[in-house]
Amino acid sequence: MEHILATITRRDPEQQEFHQVIREFLATIAPVLDRQPRYRQQAILMRIIEPERMILFRVPWMDDQGEVHVNRGYRVEMNSAIGPYKGGLRFHPSVNLSIIKFLAFEQVFKNSLTTLPMGGGKGGADFDPKGRSDAEVMRFCQAFMAELFRHIGEDTDVPAGDIGVGAREIGYLFGMYKKLSNKFTGVLTGKGLGWGGSLIRPEATGYGVVYFAAEMYGRCGENLVGKRCLVSGSGNVAQFTVEKILQLGGKVLTLSDSSGFIYDEEGIDSGKLDFIKELKNIRRGRLREYTRQYPRASYVVADPALGYNPLWMHRADCAIPAATQNEISGRDARHLVEGGVRLVCEGANMPSTLEAINIFREHQILFGPSKAANAGGVAVSGLEMAQDSMRMSWSREIVDNRLQTIMKSIHRTCLEAAANYGMEGDYLAGANIAGFVKVADAMLDQGLV
Ligand code: NDP
Repeated sequence: MEHILATITRRDPEQQEFHQVIREFLATIAPVLDRQPRYRQQAILMRIIEPERMILFRVPWMDDQGEVHVNRGYRVEMNSAIGPYKGGLRFHPSVNLSIIKFLAFEQVFKNSLTTLPMGGGKGGADFDPKGRSDAEVMRFCQAFMAELFRHIGEDTDVPAGDIGVGAREIGYLFGMYKKLSNKFTGVLTGKGLGWGGSLIRPEATGYGVVYFAAEMYGRCGENLVGKRCLVSGSGNVAQFTVEKILQLGGKVLTLSDSSGFIYDEEGIDSGKLDFIKELKNIRRGRLREYTRQYPRASYVVADPALGYNPLWMHRADCAIPAATQNEISGRDARHLVEGGVRLVCEGANMPSTLEAINIFREHQILFGPSKAANAGGVAVSGLEMAQDSMRMSWSREIVDNRLQTIMKSIHRTCLEAAANYGMEGDYLAGANIAGFVKVADAMLDQGLV
């Protein structure tokens, strides 16, 4: 294990997020290697941490004033042992190769857990859609796809959305792909309902996270009714997390964006959620507007200099981080524990630092890791691919039932894998082990390629 960490830090010393995800993964996987010596003999770990292919490209585009900008585009095709590469595209100024590699690595095991035949990949650009007009976003998406289109395809690599890439961006990306390839295929997921999209895809990640949290509670004979929940983010995952928590009888106290967070002691109800959806998805405004509409709530401006996020200091029963990576530091984790939180279920990818995870472990907090808990999005993307291949569309009920079945199966699989290796109740270990074994066995079957 140590030589793997040494190799990745020597090869790519600046890729901190990638090192972090590998470290978290390796910490739980050792007993599997001891039990199955072929994984070591065939250097499965060294092979699985190295992307099969990385595509880096220039994205030149013009803004509304005629000024030329150049962004950097990425697609990391991590592993195709169990299916075509599958994973989202992120448009955010912080995007770099380390972030895309960590996301692609997580995606491999997440996709494996869904039970669907999908390999793992991730991509994006350091483009910031905030404050850009629709026309600018369209030109950027077209420029991005002008290069990406030659590397993807419905049987090769099927991207989807992520931070900064929602229904609008998927539409522009798909339009350009169709024009360049002269093909109408399911090459992207998250498409509009009228042109190959699946019902429940927008809701899937958030709903899936809450289904997973409900399963975790169910195992302890509890449920979400009356539970006070802290949610971060206010984008796709956060919005539908709130919607499902409300449907299952919970109370949501917080939401955030990169500028700050809102706290509403009366609870964010469905009417307030509609306001947020309109604010974020249509007007593309900032969350601080919430307190103008609902003055009894409070708004706290984000202050990175603090070294912790006061959002996580409020008294609550459960927390669902749904904004971005490393948003829960060790200090935040301590605040959560002190505030009474007993369950943390990750909506975002890798929102908890290693220190935070260790604190959750120390205090026996129920911890649902992202690669299991937020797999509902890619699972329904897999269902969208199936519907596209059949040229059919399934009803809301069918897709939602399948999503629930998949989330229950992931929950069960994590527990079984953890128990099988003497780590009862450790969802993180279970998710890593179960996700890994399926991919590793497929790699062994397919030889040294
Ligand atoms: P959106 O772009 O819809 O929303 C992201 C939200 O997080 C926004 O509220 C955004 O605020 C906030 N945010 C983003 N970056 C930061 C940052 N650096 N600091 C503070 N806040 C930030 O993205 P999604 O909801 O789709 O994605 C959220 C998370 O869920 C990501 O980790 C993503 O990888 C993960 N995920 C998403 C899936 C999906 O299906 N969409 C599937 C599985 C995981 P602001 O508006 O200010 O930028």
